[in-house]
Amino acid sequence: MITKVSKIDLQSLQEAKNLIESEQLVAFPTETVYGLGALATSERAIKSVYEVKGRPSDNPLIVHVHKDYDISTLVYISENDYSQKIANAFLPGPLTMVYKSKGVVAPSLSCGLDTLAIRIPKSEGAQKFLKFVNQPIAAPSANISKHISPVTAEHVYQDFNGKIPLILDGGKCDGGIESTVLDVTGDIPVILRKGLITAEMIREVVGACVYAGENAQTSLKSPGMKYKHYSPNCETAIFERNESEEAIRLYDQLKAEGKRVIFLCDDEMSKKIGKRKFLALGSTDIEMASNLYDLLHQGEKYEVIITFKLLVDSELMLSVNNRFSKAFFKDENK
Ligand code: AMP
Ligand code: MG
Repeated sequence: MITKVSKIDLQSLQEAKNLIESEQLVAFPTETVYGLGALATSERAIKSVYEVKGRPSDNPLIVHVHKDYDISTLVYISENDYSQKIANAFLPGPLTMVYKSKGVVAPSLSCGLDTLAIRIPKSEGAQKFLKFVNQPIAAPSANISKHISPVTAEHVYQDFNGKIPLILDGGKCDGGIESTVLDVTGDIPVILRKGLITAEMIREVVGACVYAGENAQTSLKSPGMKYKHYSPNCETAIFERNESEEAIRLYDQLKAEGKRVIFLCDDEMSKKIGKRKFLALGSTDIEMASNLYDLLHQGEKYEVIITFKLLVDSELMLSVNNRFSKAFFKDENK
């Protein structure tokens, strides 16, 4: 199969619509990462998403719709619910909400759960695609399962060249990390996956919001959280922030052995490694969220990435650190 990469225009949107309607896959940009889109009502299309990604069959997919789509056709929404206030405050945006499902999407999409995760992305490219197709689109991140999530069309191409017919190219995603997944089926909203919208931000709107612990119970509620993700395809080493001398020793030793090695550092740590080569994560939480995946993609072109633990000094840094840890702490249960 030839994989076409097209800028988003009338012609590529029409092509995307035809492909989606014929149960094929189309990658498209959002404000967080690129999604691998499939018609949510087609069991055949959903099956091929799992196959192409190598995604475990018990990890449900998120359904994406445009901002004017009537989601009450897909899920139960109660009128006076706090979920409405949250939706009004943050959507369209990097927030996925989990509702009770009406069961109209393909059964394998929800992996047997009676809930459905819905996202209304904000980026212009995503809105254009979703509006043009005007169908609910199931879309996990457009990467091979466990690899780093894609933030450019080129990243998608690297993982899926020859495996999908079309990638809509909307440039680089600026959010960087995936949407927050929020369970709105209970008495108070519960964050199942940390992301750009934090508990603090939701509390400001509805008074309450908690993070679910990443324990057995939460794994059942949000099956995807138990899987390892975001790993660069190269060796990695991580040091404490007070171990710059040890990290430098390792870098110099690997260099002397002829290895291609690079540091991945926030601004503070980059000042402690002399003139050695590094990828700059930035200094603020927003910068680091936006840069992380792109830099992991750049870093895996080397043989070894050396990095330092992050300073978690804001709620957004909790989300960034969640992805960062899954990329660098290889032996933990992820
Ligand atoms: P991905 O598509 O790879 O960005 O991952 C989707 C995330 O949403 C995973 O962590 C899933 O477990 C979670 N998810 C999708 N559908 C549901 C649902 N119905 N209930 C809870 N979590 C969900
Ligand atoms: Mg993913």
